[in-house]
Amino acid sequence: MSDEALTDVQRELVAHARGLAAGFSLDYWHEKDEKAEYPWEFVKAFSAAGLLGVLVPEQYGGLGLGVTEAALVLREVAASGAGTSGASAIHFYVFPPGPIIHHGSDEMKQRVLPAVAAGELLMAFGVTEPTAGTDTSRITTRAVRVDDHWEISGQKVWTTNAQNASHILLLTRTSPRDDARPLDGMTLFFVPLDREKCTVRVIHKLGRAAVDSNEVFIDGLIGTDQDVVGEVGQGFKHLLSGLNPERIVLAMEAVGIGLAALRLATDYAKQRVVFDHPIGSYQAIAHPLARSWAELHAAELMALHAAALFDQGLPCGPETNAAKYLAADAGFKACDAALQTHGGFGYAREYHIERLWREARLFGLAPVSQEMALNYLSERALGLPKSY
Ligand SMILES: Cc1cc2nc3c(=O)[nH]c(=O)nc-3n(C[C@H](O)[C@H](O)[C@H](O)COP(=O)(O)OP(=O)(O)OC[C@H]3O[C@@H](n4cnc5c(N)ncnc54)[C@H](O)[C@@H]3O)c2cc1C
Repeated sequence: MSDEALTDVQRELVAHARGLAAGFSLDYWHEKDEKAEYPWEFVKAFSAAGLLGVLVPEQYGGLGLGVTEAALVLREVAASGAGTSGASAIHFYVFPPGPIIHHGSDEMKQRVLPAVAAGELLMAFGVTEPTAGTDTSRITTRAVRVDDHWEISGQKVWTTNAQNASHILLLTRTSPRDDARPLDGMTLFFVPLDREKCTVRVIHKLGRAAVDSNEVFIDGLIGTDQDVVGEVGQGFKHLLSGLNPERIVLAMEAVGIGLAALRLATDYAKQRVVFDHPIGSYQAIAHPLARSWAELHAAELMALHAAALFDQGLPCGPETNAAKYLAADAGFKACDAALQTHGGFGYAREYHIERLWREARLFGLAPVSQEMALNYLSERALGLPKSY
C-alpha cells in the first residue's frame, strides 16, 4: 500500500522505521547470519527510537498504538533486507508481551512492560513441545503446587531467544487434560529463565541463524503466584487473544521480505545482460516478478484489512488467517522468483537472495502452518465440518 494512503502518524512511523533499518546494510545481515550473532545493534537502534513499545500502553512507557502500526513497522524492517533476522529480533519485544498487557496484574505490568518497551528485558516464548505439535492441548510441561509456590518441569522446543532471554512466558499444564474441555487446565507463567533449572540447547536451522531457536529442558523451575499471567487454568485462552494480531504482523513481515527480494531482483534484471539484452526484457524473467508484485500487494491489503478490523474491535479471524496464508505464500514465491532471476548467482551468499529465500520459508511453518490456516478457513469461513 502506498504511503499516501496512511494517516500522518502512520506515515511518520513508517519513515522512522525505514530510516533506522536503512542504517543496517545487507552485508551486516549477511555477517550476522554467517556468525549466528544476535543483532543487538539493530535492537538498540529501535529501542532508542522507542519503537519496541509500539503496542505497550503509554502509561507503561510505550507508544500505545494499534496492530496496524505494529504491522507497518515490521513490514519496513523485513523490507529493508533485514528479513526475519531483523524482524524476529524486533517482533519478540512486540508480541510475546501481549498476554501480559491484556491479562497481567497491575503489579506485573508495572514490573515488566516499561522494561520491555525500553529494550531492557528480552523474553522467550515457550509454548511448542516436541510431543504435542500443533495440538497444544497435549503439552506435558506441568506446574505443580508445592507449599506457597509452583514447581515447573518439562520440555519446550523451538523456543526463540532462550540463549539470551532473562525471562520466559511459559505455558504449562496445571490440571490433567480433559477430553471434554482439552484447552482448559493450562496456566501461563512469566518467570525468570533460571539457568540452574533450565538447560538450553540451540537448534541449528535452515535460516535466521542470528535469532536463536532452542530446546529447553526444565527441571524444578520455581514460579510464584505473582508470576501467573491472568487466571490459573485459563492460560491457553489468554494466549488466544494475541494470536490474531501476531498473525497479521507476521503476514506483513512476509510481505516485507518478498518486497526486499523483488527490489534486489529488479535491480539485477535491469543490469544483467545475456544474449545482448538485459534479462529483465525477457518475459520469462519479468512476469514472475510482476506476478509477485501483484501477489504481495494483494496479501498486504488483506493484512491491513484484518488489522483495521482488529483495531476497531471487530471479528477478524478469517481475514487474519487468509492474510497469513496469502502473505507466507507470496513472500516465499517472490524470494524464489528473485533467486531464479539471479541465475547461478542466486545461489551465492554474497547476492543476499538465498538468505531471504531461506528465511521466507519459515512463514509457511510457524507460528502456524499453512495447513492450519486453511483448516481455519474451511471451518470458519466456509462452514465445513472440522477435519481433525
Ligand atoms: C524457527 C522457528 C521458530 C519458532 N519459535 C517458536 C517460539 O519462540 N515459541 C514456540 O512456542 N514455538 C516456536 N516455534 C514452533 C512453531 O510454532 C511450530 O513449529 C509450529 O506450530 C508447528 O508445530 P510442529 O513443528 O510441531 O508441527 P506438527 O504439529 O508436528 O505438524 C507437522 C505437519 O503436519 C501438519 N498438520 C498437523 N495437524 C494437521 C491437521 N489437523 N490438518 C492438516 N495438517 C496438519 C502441519 O501443518 C505440519 O505441516 C518455532 C518454529 C520455528 C521453525
